[in-house]
Amino acid sequence: MIEVESVRRRYGGFEAVKGISFEVRSGELFALLGTNGAGKTTTMDLIAGFGRPDGGSVRVLGCDPYTERSSIRPRLGIMLQEGGLPPDLTVTESAAMWAGTLTDPRPVAEALEMVQLRHREQVFVRQLSGGERRRLDLALAVMGRPSVLLLDEPTTGLDPESRRNAWQMVRGLLAGGVTVLLTTHYLDEAQELADRIAIMHDGEIVTSGSTAEVVARHPARISFHLPAGVRLPDLPGLQDQVPEPGVRAEHVALRTRDLQLTLTELLIWARRHDVELAGLDARQASLEEAFLAVADTEKVPS
Ligand code: ATP
Repeated sequence: MIEVESVRRRYGGFEAVKGISFEVRSGELFALLGTNGAGKTTTMDLIAGFGRPDGGSVRVLGCDPYTERSSIRPRLGIMLQEGGLPPDLTVTESAAMWAGTLTDPRPVAEALEMVQLRHREQVFVRQLSGGERRRLDLALAVMGRPSVLLLDEPTTGLDPESRRNAWQMVRGLLAGGVTVLLTTHYLDEAQELADRIAIMHDGEIVTSGSTAEVVARHPARISFHLPAGVRLPDLPGLQDQVPEPGVRAEHVALRTRDLQLTLTELLIWARRHDVELAGLDARQASLEEAFLAVADTEKVPS
């Protein structure tokens, strides 16, 4: 539904997007994550057809979104970071005005209901809270029953309940076959909604895949307290971690690329030697760790 191929975008002498490629398949939600200024919004703008790449190509629904904008516009829903709605219209008036530009709009009440804004219908846009404005932007983005939906930081400023409601709505759209490209700074949002993600930094995609794939490129972690005086076994990754005998239990934290194997060996050793591993905790890397590794420009293993 969306194909981005070796796309570059320059602002004067500054290259904001440096030859990125990805595709978004029908009915999936693809999340673009990244550090501030990584180039997510620039990429989104090119996909929305607001600008032309300086290199590479963008296709949306098989069309060039810049030169064939009118062909895809009826099937495209866009929510930008800044909604830019006239402040002196009411919520209903704004929605009705927008609906007037669409070929097959949802009824205004239905769109407002989807984002829980019916009770604010007669309120002026300027009187809405930041989160309510975001929800109105979201209502307008889905008003035209799009088959491709572009959401640029849709839940920024939303309270936790409104975010969950927005997620619920997006899940409903996905279930109905809508394809979604999302940018977000909320990693839990990506984890909840995304089929696949890409993490951008400094104009490039540093790592991409399903959340599980991206996370699996980083070592898992095992931690526990070892009784004082007990020496660690000769397990892979443990040799360097021999706590000195002391009066207190020693906190041990180690990383492994094979969580199951290392954990099994550790547990067998503990049982054989009748050692209690107090506070034992074993977990895969988190998406946050994967993200921070990118932000630190650490080389991400492939
Ligand atoms: P954020 O997470 O902070 O919203 P982003 O990943 O969406 O960031 P972009 O908004 O795409 O990043 O910006 C990428 C880079 O391009 C930034 O360094 C930004 O300052 C620069 N940039 C964006 N728009 C323009 C512009 N119109 N003119 C000049 N530079 C721009």
